[in-house]
Amino acid sequence: MQKIVMQGLGQNSAGHLTVGGASVPELAKHYGTPLYILDEGVIRRNCREILSGLREGYKAPFTVAFASKALCFTRLYGLLREEGMGADVVSGGELYTALKGGFRPSDIFFHGNNKTAAELEYALDAGVRRIVVDNAEELELLSAIAARRGAVPEISFRIKPGIDAHTHEFIATGKIDSKFGLALETGEAAEVIARAASLKTLRVVGIHCHIGSQIFGTEPFEHAAKVMLTFMRDMREKPGAPLNELNLGGGFGIRYLPSHDPVTLADMSLKCAESVTAAANELGLPLPELVLEPGRSITGPAGLTVYTVGSVKKIPDVNTYVAVDGGMTDNPRCALYGAYYEPIAPERPDAPVTQTAVIAGRCCESGDVITREAPLCDVRAGDLLAVQATGAYNYSMASNYNRLPRPPIVMVRDGAVRLAVRRETYGDLLACDQ
Ligand SMILES: *Cc1c(COP(=O)(O)O)cnc(C)c1O
Repeated sequence: MQKIVMQGLGQNSAGHLTVGGASVPELAKHYGTPLYILDEGVIRRNCREILSGLREGYKAPFTVAFASKALCFTRLYGLLREEGMGADVVSGGELYTALKGGFRPSDIFFHGNNKTAAELEYALDAGVRRIVVDNAEELELLSAIAARRGAVPEISFRIKPGIDAHTHEFIATGKIDSKFGLALETGEAAEVIARAASLKTLRVVGIHCHIGSQIFGTEPFEHAAKVMLTFMRDMREKPGAPLNELNLGGGFGIRYLPSHDPVTLADMSLKCAESVTAAANELGLPLPELVLEPGRSITGPAGLTVYTVGSVKKIPDVNTYVAVDGGMTDNPRCALYGAYYEPIAPERPDAPVTQTAVIAGRCCESGDVITREAPLCDVRAGDLLAVQATGAYNYSMASNYNRLPRPPIVMVRDGAVRLAVRRETYGDLLACDQ
């Protein structure tokens, strides 16, 4: 049988696949393929779940900031704001989109391992809530900019807590061998924070870590909470920098494979709340203001990408290549690091699986594959073929390689359909050509 791994899928009386109550074949007919479909109800439910775990388990102020890099377009921010979310951004472009989407600057955290002077100026102009400083040079740059302007920004620091979250090497960022943040073990973090505390141009309020992505267990977060709070206690004994904000980043895993079995988001955030509370009590610290930054887990399970099959190439005793009308341009994650996407045939979700094939894209690149070893029912040229759980790190990572226009995003909520991002035109492709 074809398997369902994402949230919000169903079937209508015609036996067709539905997302959020809307027929996928009808949406594909109306908007064309490739097409991103997002179930808005699922996104809202995931926001509520994470917030509910913190509400239940945390007795000090907290914020859940959506990691914009997972998915970024203006309409999404209106929805996130309605759900009481903050946002984290890592570039001027993400900040611009969040602000245009109606987000309050006071709900925005600005991250990034190499922010430019222009971006820092922009963030200060906008009045973001927090600039999360990554390194010593950025601290000096920000301090100089702040001195010129006369306002005192509140900052926190990205720390490498030295935790291997047992995740894919390319997306593990909490370890010491990483381009992100300041190391604890070497004394780098303590040194840079002491320097910041001596500056009158800035106010240090907290520390941040992000230990990796697609993490299934709660233990890495428990471990991170202990390491970070211990560091907070150690820093308390030094003058000048009372750290009162702890940002534990994101990284909650989602189901891509049928065998993945993630903890619910409510349990994840509850566990984070309990871990921070327990560690603070043990260390005799007041509860810090807690920030979580989930990205993938909020929007990933809400997204379906729909393609049309163009050809089926059977190479006897070798492989079968099912070519679709999109590819690494709308979903580069398989090409980048071998990600897997569970397929489903929107016109025949009940049809039995009869073959294992490569779902290949249409770009001029052998590595342009959506998924290898995909369990497929019989598909032919002209059939629709979808892959599941594409709501994070697909559209946000999309490109125009081979001058392919990026697909539109359609949002569905209880059967009501809204175009959130239109399909790019050939004209759009020339928009910057002089
Ligand atoms: C990527 C990232 C996140 C979100 O990670 P997910 O795995 O999508 O939850 C949060 N915070 C920071 C700083 C990040 O770099």
